[in-house]
Amino acid sequence: MSPTNGRTLVYGLGESGISSIRALQAAGVETLAADSQDDESLRRVAAGLDFATTLGAGPEVLEGVERVVVSPGVRPSDAVLRAAGERGVPVLSEVAFGLELLGGDVRVSAVTGTNGKTTVADMTAGMLDAAGLPNVLAGNSWRALTGCADEVREAGRLVLEVSSFQLHYLPEPGFEAAALLNVRPDHLNWHASFDEYVRDKLTVFAGQKASDLALVSATDEVGRGAVPGLRARTVVVGEGETLVTGGGELVVRGERIVRAEELPFGGPHNLENALFAASGAVKLGAGIEAVREGLLAYGPKPHRIQVVERSSGITWVDDSKATNPAAVVAALLSFRGRSVVLILGGSEKKTDFAEVEPYLGGCRAVVCCGESGPRLFRWLEGIGFGERATLADELGDAVKAAKATARSGDVVLLSPGCASFDEFSGYAERGDVFARLARVGSV
Ligand code: ADP
Repeated sequence: MSPTNGRTLVYGLGESGISSIRALQAAGVETLAADSQDDESLRRVAAGLDFATTLGAGPEVLEGVERVVVSPGVRPSDAVLRAAGERGVPVLSEVAFGLELLGGDVRVSAVTGTNGKTTVADMTAGMLDAAGLPNVLAGNSWRALTGCADEVREAGRLVLEVSSFQLHYLPEPGFEAAALLNVRPDHLNWHASFDEYVRDKLTVFAGQKASDLALVSATDEVGRGAVPGLRARTVVVGEGETLVTGGGELVVRGERIVRAEELPFGGPHNLENALFAASGAVKLGAGIEAVREGLLAYGPKPHRIQVVERSSGITWVDDSKATNPAAVVAALLSFRGRSVVLILGGSEKKTDFAEVEPYLGGCRAVVCCGESGPRLFRWLEGIGFGERATLADELGDAVKAAKATARSGDVVLLSPGCASFDEFSGYAERGDVFARLARVGSV
């Protein structure tokens, strides 16, 4: 498929949709734009485009369309996408279209997984920077790939964060380095089933050659299970020559890089992230010294186990980006040995929290809040944790309850395990509000 022909429908007018439209127009492709929704903010977006846009679109928008570039927010069960499937109209994710624009000469290190994608991509780019190797960081939580294709071609290296939504419509990407960090239940409101989610995540390895690199985690069942079917050289991170030694040293391909205690960040999950990033960066040409330098300079991004306040002996930690139970487990493991007041809850994705139970031992209290609060509270009662559980309404009430419960030496940890849309515009706003409330009345 060539970007220079074929009447193309850009479906979904979010940031990546707009970016795709610009790229298609620059390539001289006849472009249509549509969104299944129709509201004020979309009308404003449509008004800013210099061609006809269909809002509240149904399958009729496919008339004369030769392919569809779809935004990650649109579910595969959507009527237009289903109709495209029935009519044999190819559907590409924005990332797939972006890769098509790049051509074949760019070296790509791609990363996917339920948790840790942003961190690993960020670390990898930092290592390449330290090595003086030009690179661009794009995809998912970074810039849309279609918006920076020229820059990527010029740099010659791409660090790509890719979500399951983007992988769903990304056939055979053939990445030089591909990492699957972990696969845990999440986004089951988007995917038809956990099996579909797993299938999409494994697409990150599709089209790889024997000379490419595939990375999976020793602690991830899905990744381990995939190993026999992988064509690329495969490294199981956490065993063999790429692991954290019993003495706390990070080793990559048998080479010692750094001692964990030297790093400016902590948590077992972040050490694993560092190993993934190092492996990807080395594959794209970084030397061990640059990997070490990149790690020593790495500062975790906000809202990921970020200390936002210390007062009266209490440490307040914003982990608002923890939007599924597996991320809550990672946060609790990061505070092993500390007494924690955990704030859980947010918008309801009906995710099963059972995997959190074995790690609740260090919690002085768990405060449940938000839309999913009542369900989580009942779950805690059901597992015999009711005496240490509190049900609050909104986040503000949860912070008040945490203040009333926490004692000197405790960690108050917002690691909600749920999305934020019941009360906030996103995880960042939720984290900022938490930090502000934590400071209110602090000395
Ligand atoms: P993503 O981009 O996949 O959402 P982030 O790096 O933004 O990942 O981190 C999201 C959440 O997951 C944060 O709460 C973070 O502490 C947690 N996390 C990061 N890496 C891991 C990991 N390897 N395993 C489990 N949880 C992780």
